Amino acid sequence: MNTAQDIRRVAVLGATGSIGASALDVIARHPQQLQACVLAAGSNVDALLDLCRIHRPAHAVIADPALFTRLRDGLREAGLGTEAHAGANALDTLAAGDACDTVVAAIVGAAGLSSTLAAARAGKRLLLANKESLVLAGELLTREAAAAGAEIIPIDSEHNAIFQCLRSRDARVEAGVRRIILTASGGPFRGRSRAELETVTPAQAVAHPKWSMGPKISVDSATLMNKGLEVIEAHHLFGVPGARIDVLVHPQSLVHSLVEFIDGSTLAQLGLPDMRTTLAVGLGWPRRIESGVAGLDLLRQGRLDFEAPDLDAFPCLRLAWQAMEAGGSAPAILNAANEVAVSAFLQGRTGFLSIPALVEHALSTLPHAAADTLDTLLAADARARQITETAIARLPHA
Ligand code: NAD
Ligand code: MG
Repeated sequence: MNTAQDIRRVAVLGATGSIGASALDVIARHPQQLQACVLAAGSNVDALLDLCRIHRPAHAVIADPALFTRLRDGLREAGLGTEAHAGANALDTLAAGDACDTVVAAIVGAAGLSSTLAAARAGKRLLLANKESLVLAGELLTREAAAAGAEIIPIDSEHNAIFQCLRSRDARVEAGVRRIILTASGGPFRGRSRAELETVTPAQAVAHPKWSMGPKISVDSATLMNKGLEVIEAHHLFGVPGARIDVLVHPQSLVHSLVEFIDGSTLAQLGLPDMRTTLAVGLGWPRRIESGVAGLDLLRQGRLDFEAPDLDAFPCLRLAWQAMEAGGSAPAILNAANEVAVSAFLQGRTGFLSIPALVEHALSTLPHAAADTLDTLLAADARARQITETAIARLPHA
């Protein structure tokens, strides 16, 4: 990748977030090979402008249309040639358009689905961090990506590890794979009983022991919903049924996941918990490129421990498994109810244990429809948000 036409032109959607920062860090290390051409954020214009000053993209998008003039004027004042855009449609158009050949899908939540789908339909290389879009519409997304020749490279560390072990996304039995084993750190509350979780606070929940991440995924890690979403994600990415996916708690977060083959071999990928590694894999693949992450000193780390997940204290993992088995709109309902419940928890409107209770309420109240179209899935998502908001309004204040 040395000539001008070999430069990978990257759109970073969710540029102001945690994954966005890691992606831009790796991109900036390879100015001859990688260029940040499109930067997009939800509503933080000042942070987006700061990034534009550093990375000088051709386009900047702010999802909130009310912020368009601030973005446009800020770019002008900074003397940048970056073109300003606003709104969800602009995001989809740029993700699908000629300004980029590679899209880092790093928006948080179902809000990322539309642009992720747009990139997939346009046949881009898709570095997929936004796991919620796979949970919500995994079949549709993987089908459309395959039809358009879009190459999906998972960025979630576990799925990136499996991708590296397989050197592809083919984990079918015919490919010799017996099972895949997702590792989980166990989050900040590993080892606590259900009763001990009653009074935990948002600040405690987002203080992850191993990874530095955005607030929503940090809470998901604390409830183990993150691992539940990842089981569904793995099912769609690698084409394996739930019965061949296992979860193993590994507090050191150095083994990022494992693949067991029919000949008895198990391959694992190890590394320090730093998302720049997975982004470098996605940006350089099939080549290896520098990420800024140091190698793993196992002698210094000392030991690797493994234990079973505690489904009594962390019922979200069980709920996700059940939603995956139920199929249809159930995973969309699970995801939407969880997004609303996590947001309420972060705002101090509900307690920690209300998160699984609210998700269970949505799953048991709403019918699980067959869900082969985007409209059915989005309708299920909207309905689940609504009934979860209503349920929160009825809760005694946390
Ligand atoms: P974050 O909260 O740090 O960043 C989210 C980004 O999304 C921000 O740039 C924000 O501006 C943007 N955004 C939010 N709503 C938007 C909207 N409606 N339209 C456009 N942009 C919007 O989150 P994060 O931790 O970087 O996570 C991003 C995604 O990556 C999530 O799906 C998460 O599950 C996944 N992921 C993150 C990590 C990690 O280490 N942070 C690891 C694995 C997977
Ligand atoms: Mg993960």
